[in-house]
Amino acid sequence: MTIRFENGIVATLGKKNRILWNATVVSDGEKVAAIGPAAEMAERFPDAESVDCSGKIILPGFICTHHHFYSTMARGMAPPGEPASNFVEILERLWWKLDAALSEEDITLSAQIPLIDCIRNGTTTIIDHHASPGHRDGSLDQIESAVRQAGLRASLCYEVSDRNKPGAGIAENERFIKKVGHGDGQIAAMMGLHASFTVSDETLEKCVGIAKDAGVGCHIHVAEDAADRKDSLDKYGVPTVNRLHSAGVTGEKSIFVHCAPPKSVNTSRTSPPSTTIRIVFFMLTPMLTPMLTSPSLPCSGALRRCPGRRAVPGARLRSHVAEDHAGYGQ
Ligand SMILES: [Zn+2]
Repeated sequence: MTIRFENGIVATLGKKNRILWNATVVSDGEKVAAIGPAAEMAERFPDAESVDCSGKIILPGFICTHHHFYSTMARGMAPPGEPASNFVEILERLWWKLDAALSEEDITLSAQIPLIDCIRNGTTTIIDHHASPGHRDGSLDQIESAVRQAGLRASLCYEVSDRNKPGAGIAENERFIKKVGHGDGQIAAMMGLHASFTVSDETLEKCVGIAKDAGVGCHIHVAEDAADRKDSLDKYGVPTVNRLHSAGVTGEKSIFVHCAPPKSVNTSRTSPPSTTIRIVFFMLTPMLTPMLTSPSLPCSGALRRCPGRRAVPGARLRSHVAEDHAGYGQ
């Protein structure tokens, strides 16, 4: 069905961002067929259904480059016992209890609910990082079904961690990566890892090997807290990024989430030369509704909105923080 989203303010974003006043975006049901002045589009597509967007801004859908669907279940949740006083306690008292408790039914619901929120808020593509140690096998298929049902796009992975069992989750990633291949335009796969401090060298090597063989990237939390850096220094004698780089986790297709070294750290020492790292909180790029061009937004403004977060020199910055994720602590 062809639809004219007309009389709006169109922000095309992309390398050559354009702001078009009283403009129309025409969708052929799958792709953007045309963008232009409202009168001209009405003349070219007289039979299209019309949606009046007067007083509204039409812009590409958002891409969330780091999500935990299941985490949305913890909104407003007060875990029993003493409140956590540091990052590791937050993991132990909330997140690792929550993900371990997820039932098969929970996994589907935990994806469906945030997917509805994504639609309502204009996020049309999600890169998710899933964990459900109690119901691990097939969990990515359940999330895939929910995403397809919602009509959105997603890249999925399972969070490999040695915290429960060495290498737990590798098989689920490998299975799903093989199943999805390089994606069908709607669903893609990555190799998921929790964080440096919960994966051994052996686990890292296995994960990187599978990712490289399949040509997919790794999705991992990096230096989310000083505990991650300390663990790497204590066990391996190098900062987190250096360890991961040496293991082959870095690369054009990999996502390093957080990368928040303590202010006392000279970041030039933590970044191996010529490493390509995506420092990712959330990325704004376009996708489905309405589908426009492909932008790569500058992130300087985003970093300004993110006090305390500093860039690793040499890394490629492609993202920013989504407020509704802030405070999840994971
Ligand atoms: Zn996370």
